[in-house]
Amino acid sequence: MNFVNALECLLPVVDGVHARWESARVEMMSRHESNPESLRVTCTKGCGACCHFPIIPATGGEAFVLLARLLAEGRTLEELHSQFMTYARRYLEHAQRNQSLPLTDDQQRKFLHEKLPCPLFVATADIGPMGGYCGVYAYRPLICDFFHSLESPELCLLKKPHASFSDVSERGHEAIDEVRAIERELFGRSVLGHLPLLMAALLTDSGMKSFLTRVEIDPNEENAQDIADFGLYVELISCLGYGWGDAEWASLAIAQAEMI
Ligand code: SF4
Ligand code: SF4
Repeated sequence: MNFVNALECLLPVVDGVHARWESARVEMMSRHESNPESLRVTCTKGCGACCHFPIIPATGGEAFVLLARLLAEGRTLEELHSQFMTYARRYLEHAQRNQSLPLTDDQQRKFLHEKLPCPLFVATADIGPMGGYCGVYAYRPLICDFFHSLESPELCLLKKPHASFSDVSERGHEAIDEVRAIERELFGRSVLGHLPLLMAALLTDSGMKSFLTRVEIDPNEENAQDIADFGLYVELISCLGYGWGDAEWASLAIAQAEMI
């Protein structure tokens, strides 16, 4: 499939899922807000620790549509390439120094010391540590919309677990699954990975080719779909010049399972 055909297929899917998700979110949140016994969301404008996390899970299709939107807005390929490759280089240098991608909880906490925000984050110095706002708020990926906290933002700054509304999180994950199901219909496989790395990989010729190439899945082969999905992430990260270490395979499988 070529870029234009893929965009014609994926744009209405991503927009449709986002619209359905949004009306579900509004309904769930107003139910929680009208319940006096319900906890309150503690996320505030300007809080951006979660935009510094080393795993911001998005689908390949979401990353692809976001990239197309940035291009349609007038951002040039050169600018985007420079912005995302700078991020990817720092991210992967961190991984090389630590002999693994930041996948486990401890590795993710260590990554936060880099203070490396998502390339789409706009930092504002006056808001405090890791403060700022999303530069693509109107069409940020699903995870960025449904991820929230009912506890102190300090926990996010330390990458520690925190409570959230389970119905909101579950519906958000279902929305991601809807996008992935269509990606599998179109391309045979669907990647779920770290948004900035996916976008950086799609800005390489080989990464875009991997994403757009249809792969046939053997229905008789055990776990064929999972292996194909996983394989696409490995291909995309490899396009950024990263050599996978043996110890990373198991951690990546665990991290991907936790994203779902
Ligand atoms: S999830 Fe955590 S870091 Fe993100 S906005 Fe909410 S409190 Fe802040
Ligand atoms: S897309 Fe926006 S909300 Fe999501 S991680 Fe990046 S800057 Fe934050």
